[in-house]
Amino acid sequence: MTVLRSYTGGQWRTPSGEGAPLRDAVTGEEVARVSSEGIDMAAALDYGRAVGGPALRELTFHQRAALLKSLGSYLREHREELYALSARTGATRDDSKFDVDGGIAVLASYASKGRRALPNDTVYIDGDVEQLSRSGGFVGQHICTPLHGVAVQINAFNFPVWGPLEKLAPAFIAGVPSVIKPASQTAYLTARLAELIVDSGQLPPGSIQLICGGVGDLLDHLTEQDLVSFTGSAATAQRLRAHPAVVAHAVRFNAEADSLNLSILGPDAAPGTAEFDLFVSQLVTEMTVKAGQKCTAIRRAFVPAGWLGELAAAARDRLAEVVVGNPANPAVRMGALASLQQREEVRRSLQALLAAGKLVCGDPQRVEVLDADSERGAFLAPILLQADDPGGAAPHEVEAFGPVSTLLPYTSAQQVAALAARGRGSLVGSVVTADADFAREVVLGVAPWHGRLLVLGTDNAGESTGHGSPLPPLVHGGPGRAGGGEEMGGIRGVLHHMQRTAVQASPETLGAITGRWVPGAPRREREHPFRMSLAELRPGDCVVTGSRTVTPTDISGFAELTGDTFYAHTDEEAASANPLFGGIVAHGYLVVSLAAGLFVAPEPGPVLANYGLENLRFLTPVKPGDELTVTLTAKQITPRLDADYGEVRWDTDVTNQRGESVAKYDVLTLVAKERKR
Ligand code: NAP
Repeated sequence: MTVLRSYTGGQWRTPSGEGAPLRDAVTGEEVARVSSEGIDMAAALDYGRAVGGPALRELTFHQRAALLKSLGSYLREHREELYALSARTGATRDDSKFDVDGGIAVLASYASKGRRALPNDTVYIDGDVEQLSRSGGFVGQHICTPLHGVAVQINAFNFPVWGPLEKLAPAFIAGVPSVIKPASQTAYLTARLAELIVDSGQLPPGSIQLICGGVGDLLDHLTEQDLVSFTGSAATAQRLRAHPAVVAHAVRFNAEADSLNLSILGPDAAPGTAEFDLFVSQLVTEMTVKAGQKCTAIRRAFVPAGWLGELAAAARDRLAEVVVGNPANPAVRMGALASLQQREEVRRSLQALLAAGKLVCGDPQRVEVLDADSERGAFLAPILLQADDPGGAAPHEVEAFGPVSTLLPYTSAQQVAALAARGRGSLVGSVVTADADFAREVVLGVAPWHGRLLVLGTDNAGESTGHGSPLPPLVHGGPGRAGGGEEMGGIRGVLHHMQRTAVQASPETLGAITGRWVPGAPRREREHPFRMSLAELRPGDCVVTGSRTVTPTDISGFAELTGDTFYAHTDEEAASANPLFGGIVAHGYLVVSLAAGLFVAPEPGPVLANYGLENLRFLTPVKPGDELTVTLTAKQITPRLDADYGEVRWDTDVTNQRGESVAKYDVLTLVAKERKR
């Protein structure tokens, strides 16, 4: 039987030991062996730091995003192969899609975020320039640069594809190499994923490494520039967080641990309502997808006390329809747990849960299975429990990591919020209701204990991605027992891999460091900047326009043209009584329009389009007779990788005859990379 290879130092390595067997969750047959004996962990970390980090840091965010996108496309072409191996973990085809397609979708999402929300540069600018002196000659700005270490990514067994990819994506975009350590039970699937990634040839050398088997002394060699991202049980998280090297070097440690997620049925959702049915159907889905081996699955289902019996009956009927068995059979709705040990673990947890409640349905010891041997495979019936006293400890403390959930009664929003807190921090909660007031009360009550909350109703059920699906642009993580981390969450996940540094300097020097023009830095008036191509334009290139007097006819004409006849622009008497204006003023949008008329260079040229304005503020009222002038300065220049144009952000300052700013904003344009000859 093959022992899984690790991929370190740019080579596939067979471990020296014969390894421990990994078994097919359905048939019990050996699939592979796993061991990390003989793998040099310190050398792997060194290689990541010496080869992977520099190679990644040479690329801009956009270049990394483009590689991630093409890696996603490559993996998509090899999905069938991954589904087939995934079936050996006990997963149905839908479960496998959840894992495999979900992981590929994370790559696509980060690729798109990386291109849209990050600059085509190697440094990320965080927040505004802070003026630190009265005259503006001393300013501060936060910049984020990639850590020079390695992201050690320790994954749980239940998502062998999505888990590693959701950690790889933000690290890669940030410019930090990954060392992927899959959970042993399902490491054969992650190992194949890693082979595909390596074979794709898309990623720079050293940007990913794989360690199958135990981590050995890997953590002993961590330094202050490394990170650990962990997914697994709260107990392991606690142990690793306290590892001497993690503590000594203040290694960034992110944990996504287990969680007693809840779902709450609103008091408006009586039996017979669409919300009641939605709640039941969501509960059954969460119990059975991936055989309940989801960190986000509903473990505590809170129901208004009077409807507990009806809800239990409805859920029992739906669960009775679930066909358990060989996931290769299309009639099967729920496959096996990942291993026989896992089933034993769930049965142990069930003993504690049964002491606090009664069985509504499912037999922990027996299950009828289709097309498989119920003892050789790690099959378990979906098990729904009911605890009539919601105050008992077990449902709030014991996570049975399988198709197991407990129904609990509640009597008020305050009580259910207090019970939610008994989970000591969860990844996700959901509220099924059509009552917006109840939704607000419960969401605000339980939010401090949750990383994500879904409010489900008939108005969004058709489009909702559901309780159990973490989404790459949104936070995935939770406080307390859930680990206190945020694995994803869009750009938050990327910045987690970077150091934020406050840089203090003069505006000119700061601009040179960040590659942008900073207010207060010198500007240059060369050719009109709209006549310059992206290749010619530099931050600080500007035009100071001639002036234009705003007349009463301009204002009345604009009011007539647009229909904006607000009294401050049309009624002298009423406008005089306005405490801010004291007379007729020009429309803000008239000022913006006149400004465009002042700074435009009308003939065809490199500027292709104006695609928006940002940060628009009207600062001083413009009155008839005021003279407007505009200073337009190229602030940030971002060439696109995949087009012959790029974006230019222009600092725009409209001033009056006294030199006061009347409006400030950023104009956003698309500009051709080259001039047309
Ligand atoms: P686990 O036993 O804690 O193992 C998690 C990972 O840690 C595995 O890769 C494991 O490797 C590794 N590990 C264990 N002991 C270690 C040590 N001393 N040093 C370094 N690494 C060590 O958890 P699991 O059984 O795989 O996963 C199930 C749990 O994960 C559930 O409780 C579930 O709620 C949680 N989970 C959470 C999320 C989330 O996003 N929050 C997602 C999925 C699962 P080996 O397999 O080689 O021992």
